[in-house]
Amino acid sequence: MDFAEARRLMVETQLIPRGIRDERVINAMLKVPRHLFVNEAIRYRAYDDSALPIGEGQTISQPYMVAVMTELLELSGNEKVLEVGTGSGYQAAILAELAKEVYSIERFEDIARQAEQILREIGYDNVYIFVGDGTEGLPEHAPFDRIIITAGTPNVPETLKNQVSDGGIIVAPVGSRFSQQLVKLRKHGKTFKEEYHTPCVFVPLIGKYGWKE
Ligand code: SAM
Repeated sequence: MDFAEARRLMVETQLIPRGIRDERVINAMLKVPRHLFVNEAIRYRAYDDSALPIGEGQTISQPYMVAVMTELLELSGNEKVLEVGTGSGYQAAILAELAKEVYSIERFEDIARQAEQILREIGYDNVYIFVGDGTEGLPEHAPFDRIIITAGTPNVPETLKNQVSDGGIIVAPVGSRFSQQLVKLRKHGKTFKEEYHTPCVFVPLIGKYGWKE
């Protein structure tokens, strides 16, 4: 299978027609080998227009969802980013292409280690993986210029709002346990400007300030 060609088709048929415009995001989606972030048995489906299983009942997000969330983060290359929900590590790789440093936290140790291994093998040395409850953030590494939550949450936890810098952006799927909407928050001093974007369906954010198990 020609994976570079599969990525080109993914961008042309799934991302551009749905409005992804940021050239840097498009180039990152053309570059990062998504097939290496899924199990070998389903590699041929890596560039399909869907989420795919990665074990523990979790998923690698649909390419479009990765692209739209990344675009909403408005990355210029100098940012320190926190990702809550490492999963396969694919979103972290896209962020690593577009930001200075990526801190990513995952609640399942085996999933985190697998993501860490593939990110190292491909050569991303600006991604730091942590195991734990991402709803608590990473206070010892805060503040972050950007925070992305890649699991569905009833609301954006105050803990994370407190860990984004002034002028910073948080992007998260907010809603019920079974369907959400992408929300973008921009911090202005003590307040947040809120924008609502595309409807979506993510696995739940399970933790102290998310959903209960
Ligand atoms: N960003 C991922 C990728 O590129 O593959 C997709 C993430 S998947 C949709 C959501 C992930 O969030 C799962 O791996 C899940 O275990 C993790 N998760 C759920 N609750 C969490 C929490 N409180 N802290 C950290 N990770 C959490």
